[in-house]
Amino acid sequence: MVASENIGRLAHLPASHGSDIRGASLWEAAHDVPSYPRLDGMIETDVLVIGAGFTGLSAALKLRHEGVSVSIVEAGQPGAGASGRNSGLVIPMLSRSDPDDIVQRYGASGERFVALLRDCADDLFATATALRLGKQAEQNGWLQPAHTPGRMALIAQRAAQWSKWGAAVEVVDRLEARDMLGSEMWFGGLLCRSGGAVNPLALVQAMAEEVRRIGGNIYAQTPALSFTRRANAWQVATPLGEVRARSLIIATNAYTAAASKALLPGVAREIVPVTSWLAATDPLPEAIRCSVLPTRLAMSDTRGDLHFARYDVNDRLISGGRSSIRSTVQPGFESWFNSGSRGFGRKFAASASGSSGMDGSE
Ligand SMILES: Cc1cc2nc3c(=O)[nH]c(=O)nc-3n(C[C@H](O)[C@H](O)[C@H](O)COP(=O)(O)OP(=O)(O)OC[C@H]3O[C@@H](n4cnc5c(N)ncnc54)[C@H](O)[C@@H]3O)c2cc1C
Repeated sequence: MVASENIGRLAHLPASHGSDIRGASLWEAAHDVPSYPRLDGMIETDVLVIGAGFTGLSAALKLRHEGVSVSIVEAGQPGAGASGRNSGLVIPMLSRSDPDDIVQRYGASGERFVALLRDCADDLFATATALRLGKQAEQNGWLQPAHTPGRMALIAQRAAQWSKWGAAVEVVDRLEARDMLGSEMWFGGLLCRSGGAVNPLALVQAMAEEVRRIGGNIYAQTPALSFTRRANAWQVATPLGEVRARSLIIATNAYTAAASKALLPGVAREIVPVTSWLAATDPLPEAIRCSVLPTRLAMSDTRGDLHFARYDVNDRLISGGRSSIRSTVQPGFESWFNSGSRGFGRKFAASASGSSGMDGSE
């Protein structure tokens, strides 16, 4: 058994925990943030989008391509919310519901949603290519390995359903999964070649730049404080200005309460904070990088609180979790990642040295 430190030293621990939900993320460490003006004064626009994450920016891009005048107000900078601070796994399916359940529950709109999910990874990578993201977006596939032998039944059922709906998915056995993961700790899995990983902050910033390039306006550090409907127009108040818009798109996600409870008090009341964190190793030496996720695919397994891993452009191995690690950020993370019989880093440690001395008892 080799020491799990072989996987790499942890370089970036989450600065975002406790009440400060907007601390720096590991993506921000690698990126300069372009600056956008604050809104100061009164403007008019056809459509006002509140929130510059993937939802707001996608809507703005689509509208601009149709010639509609669009402005966005964002409480922080574009990507300040989940879009710029997530794991960047590109997974063209849901973690729980499979196509048959979705269609059974939602009928025709469920069918449209399944088609959207099936194609979303290809769509995302096409967008990334158009925005010249280069190696910040890697379509090397996504693997969902089964963490118990029993979970292979779920994998088989999921693969059958998605194949029926036209998705290119494959079931891989334990040996194939081992070769893809560089670990013997899983029991086979579902491979989806259209999946992969992206630097989410690079993508969201490129989308924001594209909105600006094609004539949209983005105002940063400009929270929408309230909105009212008067004389066939929406009037939205911000700290230093006001927007009049024919239509309004609210894309504030879980940050609705953080930026302005007054904006949508009903929604703000329904938001329950759940702590989630990401961390990265230092860039891995080539010998280790080639033995852990050797083909650079992205993976997330079948656990409820799933184990996941991916590389970034600098060969940092990135993972994270959902549990609260508030006051014990570093020790908590390191013991989870690198040590103990349930340690995630340890799952890869043996293959990183060419040994196979791990058991698959978990
Ligand atoms: C830790 C984590 C990991 C994740 N990992 C993945 C993953 O690997 N793959 C995946 O596909 N998805 C992942 N997700 C989910 C994904 O990040 C979100 O679904 C997606 O980013 C939501 O985008 P959005 O634009 O709707 O919201 P957000 O990106 O959160 O944007 C909302 C924006 O609204 C702004 N805002 C809020 N209130 C106001 C206001 N009053 N005025 C102006 N602006 C306001 C916020 O500042 C924020 O920028 C993850 C999420 C988290 C939290």
